[in-house]
Amino acid sequence: MPRPVCVNCQCEFRREKDDTGVVQMADSKPYSLWGGDLWKCPGCEAEIVIVFGKVSITKHQPEFEAAIKAHQRPGERIVYVYEGAADEGSKQNEISRPIYDLTI
Ligand SMILES: [Zn+2]
Repeated sequence: MPRPVCVNCQCEFRREKDDTGVVQMADSKPYSLWGGDLWKCPGCEAEIVIVFGKVSITKHQPEFEAAIKAHQRPGERIVYVYEGAADEGSKQNEISRPIYDLTI
């Protein structure tokens, strides 16, 4: 099975963890929660999340933030994806993150 390759290191990424929570943002607000596999480059430690399910775990609803917290196990982080952020420079850094953004 072909695996992702780090262009900088010319190493194959290695699968680190399954079911990593990924929150798709829309208009700077959380919209949907997905689970994906976290892969890491053994050379430069770059990380990517790939292999998502066909449907989201949940979409925005009154209990959405609780669903995100329930998906996040101790020591695990949630990744936030800002649509079009790469096209707009580092916009994601200008947006204040929720307090449950990263737990290490
Ligand atoms: Zn690398």
